[in-house]
Amino acid sequence: MEKWTENNAHRALFFQHLGQTSPEPMGLEIERAEGVRLFGPQGKSYMDLISGVGVSNIGHGHPKVVDAIWEQAGAYSHLMVYGEFIQAPQVKYAELLTSQLPEPLKSVYFVNSGSEAVEAALKLAKRLTGRRELIGCKHAYHGSTHGALSLIGDESFKQPFRPLLPAVQQIRFNHIEDLALISAATAAVLVEPVQAEAGVVLPQAGYLEALQERCRQTGALLIFDEIQTGFGRTGALFAFQKYGVVPDMLCLAKALGGGMPLGALVTGPDLMKAWQSEPALGHITTFGGHPICCAAGMAALEVILAQNLSEEAEEKGQWFREHLAGHSRILDMRGAGLLWACRLSSEEEAKNFVRVAAEEGIILDRFLFCGSAFRISPPLTIDFQEIDDACTLIVKALERI
Ligand code: PLP
Repeated sequence: MEKWTENNAHRALFFQHLGQTSPEPMGLEIERAEGVRLFGPQGKSYMDLISGVGVSNIGHGHPKVVDAIWEQAGAYSHLMVYGEFIQAPQVKYAELLTSQLPEPLKSVYFVNSGSEAVEAALKLAKRLTGRRELIGCKHAYHGSTHGALSLIGDESFKQPFRPLLPAVQQIRFNHIEDLALISAATAAVLVEPVQAEAGVVLPQAGYLEALQERCRQTGALLIFDEIQTGFGRTGALFAFQKYGVVPDMLCLAKALGGGMPLGALVTGPDLMKAWQSEPALGHITTFGGHPICCAAGMAALEVILAQNLSEEAEEKGQWFREHLAGHSRILDMRGAGLLWACRLSSEEEAKNFVRVAAEEGIILDRFLFCGSAFRISPPLTIDFQEIDDACTLIVKALERI
């Protein structure tokens, strides 16, 4: 561990005073970040190939985002709990976001994080349907709060925290036969249209259509979690747009805030109205839709749209594939756009590889539910020269394990 961590002044304090849940944190100190590069003490430079796990889709320190933050901080910061005052950054961002989404996804409820977006969706689905049962997929990750945790697809994460939400069932992603579990008792089915932490599992042809059809037959609401796959990551602004299946509710976070903490539940205005009665104030957030976060997120989305970064992600992803797919250590490369899972021969090997890669100056990571693979999900602004450089370093690191 000592080998791949920086020897810096804050290291001891980091372990002494910061609550840790990872038994082996990367422990790299970063002083500055720009574009795809992170800079540590003594001038050490790293290439960020994971975008803070799907957050920094337009890279670090983008001038448009920095300007938007300064400007909004100068005007006002937090004013009032969410939804009471008319705050231009929230309104303008909701308008831009929904202009990119099909019907019925025209109403946005801002929160602070992905877990909170999921909580909001689950609650609203129960309120709307009067049903209690919720269905999630095996190997899905939706967050660490009690509700979101109840829906994730890995028992080892959940068992120590039971009792969780009752009446939760699990189906296998891409198994059409499991859709029979969705019934007239089901309030909602929560699905990542591309499963991220499972190791980038794409939906098979016809699966999402069949899922939606079953939801329609039974009156269950279909919720897509695009917290990790949104904002151009998979080669479309949102992954569901590639597959032509529009959910009843969409959960967003991560890149939504352009590097600031922001989450959102997007649904139809008719459905969103249910928050206002039985009970009124059916959901409350103090900081949700923080004006500075909305200003930053909107600036980031404008960059994604102006530079066609979603479309570019497809071509750039293929460039990574061309460089790496033939490497003897990589058993399999699965992905879409700029979200790739590269499978090595074992969890131990992948773990070791991520450490060696950091020594070589590239930041990579594994997946929660696919430990033998490492992820490649760089800022969408990465250029082709940077991809060449990154792949050279990846190959160098692969040769050292
Ligand atoms: N859903 C997905 C698909 C995620 O990848 C994550 C976080 O990694 C979450 C939900 C939870 O988001 P947050 O950590 O912002 O609560």
